Amino acid sequence: MEGFAEAVIDWFHVHGRHDLPWQAERSPYRVWVSEVMLQQTRVDTVVRYFARFIERFPDVASLAAADADQVLHLWTGLGYYSRVRNLHAAAKTIVATHHGQVPNTLAGLTSLAGIGRSTAGAILALAFGKSAAILDANVKRVLARCFAIEGYPADSRTAATLWQLAEQLVPREPAGVSNTKRLASGVARTMEAARPTGSGNQVAAYTQGMMDLGAGLCTHRQPACPKCPLHDRCLARARDQIALYPGRKPARKLPVRTVTMFVLQDRAGRILLEKRPPNGVWGSLYSLPQVDGREETRLPAGLPHVRLQDGQPEHLASMRHGFTHFLLDISPVRYQVAETGPGVADSNRWLWYSSAEPVEVGLAAPAKKLLAAMAATRDTP
Ligand code: SF4
Repeated sequence: MEGFAEAVIDWFHVHGRHDLPWQAERSPYRVWVSEVMLQQTRVDTVVRYFARFIERFPDVASLAAADADQVLHLWTGLGYYSRVRNLHAAAKTIVATHHGQVPNTLAGLTSLAGIGRSTAGAILALAFGKSAAILDANVKRVLARCFAIEGYPADSRTAATLWQLAEQLVPREPAGVSNTKRLASGVARTMEAARPTGSGNQVAAYTQGMMDLGAGLCTHRQPACPKCPLHDRCLARARDQIALYPGRKPARKLPVRTVTMFVLQDRAGRILLEKRPPNGVWGSLYSLPQVDGREETRLPAGLPHVRLQDGQPEHLASMRHGFTHFLLDISPVRYQVAETGPGVADSNRWLWYSSAEPVEVGLAAPAKKLLAAMAATRDTP
């Protein structure tokens, strides 16, 4: 246990990532935005989105004051849109109740929408230099292997063990701000005594080092153990059982749902989009009108008045979209609209979308794909 944090910090200073955009000016707001983007998304993807997002919303106040559609627009393609809805809501809360300052306590941060214990820990460690643990997927993998922790990390008992380890390994804050938490077990007290006391910078270096180690060396497949600073203390490696850790999720067959999406295109090439309800799948994003099942002739309820050209719809290539709890099979059909009526311009629910002159709104992933496919078809001579 002793020397764990020092090994990670030393490795980080030589081999870690030091040029990520949110490291350049490590404000709590920038760290928070980056951490939310990094949930379920790779660093190289986040780098592009982060730059655009920060350019448009450079601080909490500008994000809080932004229009929801603009915020969703800058998130389009990153997925997991509840993240950005929570980010936007939390920015408003910070302005309304925290004088525009990102809180610097675990309780303050986790009271905000979309900030869990690990994200709060990352903000505290990276932006405030506070001794706070993180436990993202990469860190779970490193700890599970290094200490041979059995079980699926999302199971409550396994998660509790991993959190205990994560908290005991993070360097303590400098004298004067260290926590006074009393640890229950004798083992835990021994581990606490072994924790190094570091500066705020060391806490940040350790935290970023653990993230980098998990993302770059201790990868899901083929970890680069010979280069790992934890090589000599890693139980999974020593036992030649790396593949056993972390434990796998118990197998579960996802249900499959089917929908028909309607590509209703007017003479100008515009396509009718519908804003989704705020809660649920693709909440508040614009998507194509849809009905459950394969129902190519049953137009969705509540459509504004459109007169379709006579003839059969065109069947477009079907697609499958995966969600955490189910798979969605999408059958798109295209109708040519001969005539449009009123009811779109004066409604926030409906939008005639032109790929030639796109407005800034958040788009559901399948809608984005279908709009791109339709634009490509139109542009092909
Ligand atoms: S030695 Fe290998 S398995 Fe163990 S923590 Fe390092 S990279 Fe991961």
